[in-house]
Amino acid sequence: MSGPCRLCFKAAKWLPVLFIVTVVVWSYYAYVIQLNLFSIDSIIEKSFYLFVYHILLFLFLWAYWQTIFTEIGRVPKQFRLPPSELERYEAAESDEVRRDILERFTEKNKLPVYNRTMTGDIRYCEKCVQIKPDRSHHCSVCGECVLKLDHHCPWVNNCVAFTNYKFFVLFLGYALIYCLFIAATTLQYFIKSWKNQLGEVSGKFHILFVFFVSIMFAISLVSLFGYHIFLVSKNRSTLESFRAPIFRLSHTWVQDKDGFSLGAYNNFLEVFGDNKKLWFLPVATSLGDGVSYPVRGQQPPSTTTATTTPVQSYGSTQTSLGDGVTYPQRCVDEDTDDLLGSRQRWAEDDEENDLTTGFTNNHTYPLEEVVVQSNHTNPV
Ligand SMILES: [Zn+2]
Ligand SMILES: [Zn+2]
Repeated sequence: MSGPCRLCFKAAKWLPVLFIVTVVVWSYYAYVIQLNLFSIDSIIEKSFYLFVYHILLFLFLWAYWQTIFTEIGRVPKQFRLPPSELERYEAAESDEVRRDILERFTEKNKLPVYNRTMTGDIRYCEKCVQIKPDRSHHCSVCGECVLKLDHHCPWVNNCVAFTNYKFFVLFLGYALIYCLFIAATTLQYFIKSWKNQLGEVSGKFHILFVFFVSIMFAISLVSLFGYHIFLVSKNRSTLESFRAPIFRLSHTWVQDKDGFSLGAYNNFLEVFGDNKKLWFLPVATSLGDGVSYPVRGQQPPSTTTATTTPVQSYGSTQTSLGDGVTYPQRCVDEDTDDLLGSRQRWAEDDEENDLTTGFTNNHTYPLEEVVVQSNHTNPV
């Protein structure tokens, strides 16, 4: 795409966000000015409505801002094929040779990848020329692979993924409460206005319309919010709910839509972090080290350690537990020790030779013990 076209495309991507902002600004005018200041006589009622309204508006816009402007999680450079490997990969004559190159590269660098393609191969992005970490996918709008990609959302002009998923869910929740509050408090004035009992109020149109619009948005938000709460409880991304991830076991691979599920509460912690006080605020809440995830069979360290561990990798934007690359899974068999061994080694190697990414290897997740289930037997 040429320069001016690219600029136009970039600008056009902001239109849905502009639409949302315009609706919010108009709803502010309709609700605060037309309804509360011009139509409601009772000072107590007016003050109460305005007080609650502004708190909800603030939380809603804060979560929205955070969802839009949080940087997406990018794939660490260890996953990228170096020029020599890339040359071999591109010159390879058959799929078998390419598969072998990827397997060897993964093995050599101890990359913690357990997800596979439908044919059991290592997932590789041709566009980014890198191996895809578990749960990551290529976003065609952003033009790169994104860690734990849920989906690309045009309404926030950003990927909803590992780094901002909590913000997105809060954004949906607060937007829903915001709409419901407006609808509930406008209802009686809507009825009065409908019956022509509101007197000569100039903003009748705005009061009627703000009621309709808030109901309309609430209906669409309630299904979307409900769906994402369901996904959080199951530890699935939207993409994974459409196509279940495939996990490598020692001699085979299985497709398991609940492969990352650690139980509803732990799944919730993985997205919302382990600091209860900050669960409902769109701020960083994770006490993790930015790299390691809780692993079944390993004793979680004490919370004391956790509170002293600095958040890394994503700085102030870190919300979810972990680094977005490795995830605890319930699909385990005799191969587990190997896998966990690789994961551990990978993290240790990072600590030694890749300080540029800020990775360290501390296990800092005070999660409850995870019960391993083994009801996944669908070899592909
Ligand atoms: Zn990619
Ligand atoms: Zn994207």
